[in-house]
Amino acid sequence: MSVDLIYKKYGITKEEVMEWAKKTFPKLILNETILTQLYLKHVKGIDISPSLTLLKAKTKKIIELEENVRSVIEVVVGPKIREVTYNACPICNKKVTDGECPEHGAVEPKIAIWQEYIVGDDTGEIVVTIPPSVSEQYNDLECKVVRIDGILQENGKFMARSVAIISEEVLSMTEEHVKERMEKKRIVEQLKNVLKQFPNISYSSLLQWKIERGIEYDLDELLKEAGYRVEGEKIVPIEGEEEKEEEKGEEGEIPQDVIDRVRTLLSLFRKCALEDFKEWMRQSQIRYPLEKVLKASGAKIVREGEKEYVTI
Ligand SMILES: [Zn+2]
Repeated sequence: MSVDLIYKKYGITKEEVMEWAKKTFPKLILNETILTQLYLKHVKGIDISPSLTLLKAKTKKIIELEENVRSVIEVVVGPKIREVTYNACPICNKKVTDGECPEHGAVEPKIAIWQEYIVGDDTGEIVVTIPPSVSEQYNDLECKVVRIDGILQENGKFMARSVAIISEEVLSMTEEHVKERMEKKRIVEQLKNVLKQFPNISYSSLLQWKIERGIEYDLDELLKEAGYRVEGEKIVPIEGEEEKEEEKGEEGEIPQDVIDRVRTLLSLFRKCALEDFKEWMRQSQIRYPLEKVLKASGAKIVREGEKEYVTI
C-alpha cells in the first residue's frame, strides 16, 4: 500500500524499479520498499526517507495525543490560520536585517516560513505548527490528507517534525461535521488573536466583532474554548499562567521542571534543529536565556554542515 502511493506520487513504476534493482542491488530484490527508496535517491535524486518512515509508522488519533510524547497523526488539513515569513540567515536561521545576521555578518538571506493550520481526524482537531525546515518542502498543505510526525506541546499545538502527503484529496471529501468543527476551531484561534492584541477589549465590542463577521456560534462558548471567561464587561483568562511565567522573568536559576521538559524533548528528538528548539521554548513560554537553559539541562549546540542543532 505505502509503496504503491510512492510509485503514484513520483510517477514511477514497479517494473522500472525492479529492472534497475536487478542490476544494481540484486541482493535486496525482495525488499521493495528499500529498493524504491534507493531508486528515487540514486536515479531521480529525490530523498524520501522521512516520508517513507512516516508512511510505515503507527498512527495515533488526535484524542489520544499526550503532551511531550512524540507521535504520528493522520489528518485532513483545514485552513491555514497563520503564516510568518522572514529573511533568515542560511546558517543559523536568525532574522537578517539589511543583509546582516547578528551572528554571521553579511549573508545571502533565505526565506523562512512558519505556518499554522487547523487539522482534524474523526476524534478531534488541533492546531499544527509547521517550522521553516518543513515549510521548505511544503508551502501549502490545505485540503490534503497528511501524516505528521511531531510532538504535542504544552500550549496545545502540535509541532511538526516531518510531514508526508497521503493524498491530495480535497476537503469536500471529508465528513461535514469534521469540516464544521474545524471552522469552529479556526474562529476560536481568531478570537485568541484578538484577545492577545486587545487584552482590555469589552464583552460588547467582542460581540460586535462576532456579529460583523457573521459568526453564528455562541460567544460565551467560543470564549470558554479560547480559555477565557466573562466577568460583566471584562474578559478574563481562565488561568493566570502566562502572567505567572512573566513574573519569573529571565533571571535566576533554571527551575527543575524546565530542565525536565528540555530533557524530555531532547530524549524524544535526540537532535533538534536550533530554530525549532527556540520556537518550542517560545511556545512553551520558557523565557530564560537559551544558553542558561542549555547549560542547566546538559545540552549543547552542534553544527552539521550549515545547520545548527541542539542535542544532549
Ligand atoms: Zn547567522
